[in-house]
Amino acid sequence: MKITNVRAIYPTYRQPLAGWRPHLWQIVVKIETDRGVTGWGYGGGGEAALPIVNGHWAGLLAGRAINGVADIQRIWDDLYQASLPYGRKGIAIMALSGVDLALWDLLGKAEGVPVYTLLGGKQKERIRAYATGNDTDWYAELGYTAHKFPHRWQGPADTERAVAMAEHARNRFGPQALLMVDCYMSWDGAVAREMARRLAPYQLYWFEDLLTPDDLAGQATLRGQLNGVLVAGGEHEFTHYGYAEILRSGALDLWQPDITWCGGITAGLRIVEMAQAQQIPVVPHRGGEVWGLHLIAATSCADLAEILPGSHNAPAEQIWRDEPVPIDGFIAPSDAPGFGVALDPAYLG
Ligand SMILES: [Mg+2]
Repeated sequence: MKITNVRAIYPTYRQPLAGWRPHLWQIVVKIETDRGVTGWGYGGGGEAALPIVNGHWAGLLAGRAINGVADIQRIWDDLYQASLPYGRKGIAIMALSGVDLALWDLLGKAEGVPVYTLLGGKQKERIRAYATGNDTDWYAELGYTAHKFPHRWQGPADTERAVAMAEHARNRFGPQALLMVDCYMSWDGAVAREMARRLAPYQLYWFEDLLTPDDLAGQATLRGQLNGVLVAGGEHEFTHYGYAEILRSGALDLWQPDITWCGGITAGLRIVEMAQAQQIPVVPHRGGEVWGLHLIAATSCADLAEILPGSHNAPAEQIWRDEPVPIDGFIAPSDAPGFGVALDPAYLG
């Protein structure tokens, strides 16, 4: 099977996402082949990512053969190399993620198997879902047993706000639930230690993105100083090369690559392999979306998939058809070929 056409588009999103992050600037990559099989991928980088795919890589990809996983890995390395002077991290790798995921999707479709089968088969039948967002009460009603709430620290009064949120979540979810905080790079070392002290009664599982991704040393210092709360992060890091720096610095207890940003399944697999060798848990960012879900199901990733349900009664954006949905706090990839989803044509503009 040979690639005949590659096209990245920026979907016509209808509204910003409900919740605390209004947009994720996701792009869609469509790859067509001479066998009539079409692959869909999801990447990042917004409109700035489009010329990388359509202007630079589409020509390099035309005519390339896709007959197995090794072909996808070779293409990943070639595109990484071709974009290296301006790439390596950020938008170029977010774009590469979209291409890579489209290739895995079309290989699965060509072979008539889900992506998790290409990855060696399911190790988990269903995955525990965790709900990220502000609508704690609603997530508890939906049956989630794990929840992460965002908290941005701007001043001392925000310590009390964090305590109130943690107390409310623990009361609502009960003693067995996993509870986490996404700090979105707004805390510092002193705040983190104070929070660990004040939030200790609520038995939190991890603090995420405590510091900026450039401050690996600062995060490494905090590990083990937070009353048992894990230092989590990695959604803003890219490729196995970037994660090798996280590993060397010992910055994080728990890794969170975003499969639509870090370089797709190919980079995700390399990251998971590295983590597995050191027994570091991997919980992909937005892992409840199919792109991460197949990786979680088929590898040593932790049994946790992140869902962003938004808020009760707020409009939701559904650009992918046939996406699996969590039921009673668990989610599973479908058995359809590839990732099992197709873009709703209404989003093509
Ligand atoms: Mg986060």
